[in-house]
Amino acid sequence: MLVDSHCHLNFPEFAQDLTQVIENAHAHNIKYMLTVNTRIAESLDIQKIADSYPNIFCSVGVHPHDSKDYNDTTLIEQLKAHAAHPKVVAFGETGLDYYYNKSDADAQINCFKMHLDVSNELNLPVIIHTRNADEDTLSCLDAHPNTRGVFHCFSGSSEFAKQGLDRGLYISFSGIITFKNATELREAVKFVPLDRILVETDSPFLAPIPHRGKRNEPAFTRFVAEMVAELKSITLEEVAETTTKNFFDLFNKATP
Ligand SMILES: [Zn+2]
Ligand SMILES: [Zn+2]
Repeated sequence: MLVDSHCHLNFPEFAQDLTQVIENAHAHNIKYMLTVNTRIAESLDIQKIADSYPNIFCSVGVHPHDSKDYNDTTLIEQLKAHAAHPKVVAFGETGLDYYYNKSDADAQINCFKMHLDVSNELNLPVIIHTRNADEDTLSCLDAHPNTRGVFHCFSGSSEFAKQGLDRGLYISFSGIITFKNATELREAVKFVPLDRILVETDSPFLAPIPHRGKRNEPAFTRFVAEMVAELKSITLEEVAETTTKNFFDLFNKATP
């Protein structure tokens, strides 16, 4: 059994066939999914999906791209209110993305810090998206030393993974690890201990090989897990068992 620790089931790509997508995941032994919020305006849509399917959990948060739209302290009350929902098991995705820079850095940092504040206050883990922003990500985390969370869709160096591990974070790998040019990233998979690894699709984006370029879906989590098994020279069962345990250890409001 595997868990897709990060997908976006409310996105329009799934509007026509969501039930089929979820059945397909179950048929491939992906038993649980965490559908991740990117805009507060979509929080209720996501909670509705989580309420409709017993094995789907959700989060509440604002993507760094959208942080310019949620950049005042009213965000804190909104995050807390949504976190009261029984299926909301994490804050995020939040963080810093200086690759696309769709919001300016100050807005991103401010928004990220609000998520870290509520995450620490309510002891709910945080899903962190970080790209080309290693230094600022770490300094925000260092201002919140009790943070529990994950670097999702990890695409950084082994050194940056180490920085996350040293701060108690988990590292989640996506289909990117199957891409031909991801040689350095595969070194990071080898480097991170199995008991700190999660697997995800980030669907509908980033479909792994052999489906690269098509719509991604939670069923494809198995291609990510198979690559982790290959890189670590262990069985798929071992990857499945440990990453599932890791998921429920981190997102401990979620009950299997
Ligand atoms: Zn992300
Ligand atoms: Zn995402």
